[in-house]
Amino acid sequence: MASRLTIRMDNAMSRTPFIAGNWKMHKTLREARELVEGIKAKTADVSGVDILLCPPVYLLFPMSKALDGTRIMLGAQNVHEEAKGAFTGEISAGMLVDAGCQYVIIGHSERRHVFGETNDRLNKKVRAAMAAGLNVIYCVGETLDEREAGRTQAVVDAQIDEVLVDKDLGPDVDAAKLTIAYEPVWAIGTGKTATPEQAQEVHAAIRARLGSIYGAGVAAELRIQYGGSVKPGNAAGLLAQPDIDGALVGGACLVADDFAAIISAASGVVPTT
Ligand code: PEP
Repeated sequence: MASRLTIRMDNAMSRTPFIAGNWKMHKTLREARELVEGIKAKTADVSGVDILLCPPVYLLFPMSKALDGTRIMLGAQNVHEEAKGAFTGEISAGMLVDAGCQYVIIGHSERRHVFGETNDRLNKKVRAAMAAGLNVIYCVGETLDEREAGRTQAVVDAQIDEVLVDKDLGPDVDAAKLTIAYEPVWAIGTGKTATPEQAQEVHAAIRARLGSIYGAGVAAELRIQYGGSVKPGNAAGLLAQPDIDGALVGGACLVADDFAAIISAASGVVPTT
């Protein structure tokens, strides 16, 4: 089905490495302030890398204040598809913008597998987020059973097609606002990382898929992050792969030294101690 994905060519020639931290349900306000101050100090000399922090929703507004005047961006871990209404416990895209967010993660495997979010629902979330002006990190990835059954590419293709392609996303969708995160479910929070070669193989296939749908120009422009037990010790090898443009980091983003080391691996700059 034809897509009306808008093509913006202003950053088509290069993909700036993009390191995002997904804090999940961690950190008190005091701990969050300490972590952000540590990350700010340790990445002050780093350039050429986009940095994003995604704290729990109650920390968004205070962290937007803590990040004021820095180049570190703020994102949320989830969003509701409706703009407002009787949806107890949920938050809308417009509210995230108000809290200071530039990004939202959509389709994280914990949202899919723990909270039962379907591709159909995720399509609505992507539309709502982009309509509100948010950038989206859209997560895809296979379970261990799916990998062992040789279904990795089929699963990832369906996650792309059913959320980003087969439904008409409308004119609000802008390729420049979309990042894909390939996160094999078996590697998230398990300490098991895909090898750089395993990850590269899937990243290349994702880029090829996006290219066959949206055209080579858009595919060359889109950033594809790897996520799944990225640590200071394995980041450089993963980030050296041609189609790995950054990382979505869980556990290691909760420690300033570790997160800064991953950012440094993306920039080639040694962190400030
Ligand atoms: C994640 O939460 O997206 C993630 C990749 O977690 P971890 O780095 O802990 O595997």
